[in-house]
Amino acid sequence: MYNGRMTKYPMPVQAPEERVGNFSEVALGYDEETAKFEAERCIHCKNRPCVGGCPVSVRIPDFIEKISEGAFEEAYQIISESSALPAVCGRVCPQEKQCEKFCVRGIKGEPVGIGRLERFAADHHYKHAPKAERPVSNGRRVAVVGSGPAGLACAGDLARLGYDVTVFEALHTAGGVLVYGIPEFRLPKRIVEREVEHLVSLGVKVETNSVIGRLYTVEELRTELGFEAVFLGTGAGLPRFMGIKGENAKGVFSANEYLTRVNLMKAYEEDSETPVYRGKKVTVVGGGNVAMDAARTARRLGADVTVIYRRGAEELPARREETEHAMEEGVKFKFLTNPVEILTDSQNAAAALRCVEMELGAPDESGRRRPCVKEGSEFTVETDCVIMALGTSPNPLIQKTTAGLETRPHGEILADENGKTSLEGVFAGGDAVTGSATVILAMGAGKAAARSIDEYLRSKA
Ligand code: FAD
Ligand code: SF4
Repeated sequence: MYNGRMTKYPMPVQAPEERVGNFSEVALGYDEETAKFEAERCIHCKNRPCVGGCPVSVRIPDFIEKISEGAFEEAYQIISESSALPAVCGRVCPQEKQCEKFCVRGIKGEPVGIGRLERFAADHHYKHAPKAERPVSNGRRVAVVGSGPAGLACAGDLARLGYDVTVFEALHTAGGVLVYGIPEFRLPKRIVEREVEHLVSLGVKVETNSVIGRLYTVEELRTELGFEAVFLGTGAGLPRFMGIKGENAKGVFSANEYLTRVNLMKAYEEDSETPVYRGKKVTVVGGGNVAMDAARTARRLGADVTVIYRRGAEELPARREETEHAMEEGVKFKFLTNPVEILTDSQNAAAALRCVEMELGAPDESGRRRPCVKEGSEFTVETDCVIMALGTSPNPLIQKTTAGLETRPHGEILADENGKTSLEGVFAGGDAVTGSATVILAMGAGKAAARSIDEYLRSKA
């Protein structure tokens, strides 16, 4: 039954004034009735433009139809043909730039809430589904390095094919950026734990506190530990800085460090052993999801927060919902602004940011208009804590300790669309190959590499 409503059924959320005082999830999710109602907005277009907008080609109209029929588990099964992490992707994918951008309902009104429906189907599945059965083992061993979306997806698909998979993770908790970067209020850690528990129930072994390149090299994983293939899903966790004066001052952090302290180490809890710098006037430099996460985290720690971005509001790369939520929570924005120096006090602590105004010139190689400095526009912004959210590059450890592994100039591992690297039996995918990108692309790369590893090992059998 078609439902002519022009706008998405509203997502219930915690009120802004309430949520700035806690770290619980902001968006609360549809219930069965509202999910069916939203699903009935889909007109089941013949040419399925939404599917073309999805990086992993989820059969969107088919799963939406199942939701409208109340067949929620079938909806989940359709999504999981293409996606290993629907509960995560439903929450963090930039749907407005992907599937929902192409939804015809968006031409005169709002697109169908595809992400919200994906999240609903996944949450419903986890509430009601029986435990997965452990596949029969084929006795062949594969090592997965890194437990972010790429590693988890690769490990899951290989385990389902019967491989004996061990995931090596440098940190003490599995999940990659999903646990150390994206905050609890956007992606509850219980959801990631559930994904990892599911892998363990399929027989995957997870070795945390295991830094490959230190504990074992990639070569040793193969020759000494007997893994027949290795997947590298080590992400891009090395933060970039601006290289401006004062960046070494007290109170200046990379967003990665700040978020890791708060998210992974739960520094916001009274009894946490991890300290966090509680600035009163926090400035976040950048405009992506990482910047929004850092800004909203600082708000929850009681700061007055300003995001400084060198382009305009229209160019903000963060998910629209995150920017809107940040604004509702009282985060301020200074657009077309760039810091040129961090001014410090007598204790070498951040005291102010010297900034310049920018204007947008001709498009650069990314297609976005290049920001140029406005002559004579210098001004200062008072601040006692500066968080740099300027992007990241791959950590060079694996690259440096693996002879013959070819990389790009910024350290990204060279791999083809099936994850094959320059070394036989070594595959790679996710941010380690592309540089920092998205959860769904990393997850898709992990799945593609699993197919490729399976083909490779079958050809050797
Ligand atoms: P990662 O998630 O980075 O995982 C790599 C893992 O490998 C890590 O756990 C790391 O500890 C481990 N590792 C590294 N080196 C070694 C080693 N030598 N030995 C063993 N283990 C190692 N994307 C979205 O789509 N939507 C969002 O809203 C979004 N928000 C984000 C917010 C933040 C704060 C950040 C930082 C990123 C965000 N992203 C978002 C990007 C997204 O999270 C990444 O693109 C994605 O996680 C990449 O997955 P990955 O598996 O390639 O790497
Ligand atoms: Fe449904 Fe929108 Fe996809 Fe058309 S484009 S099938 S309306 S979700």
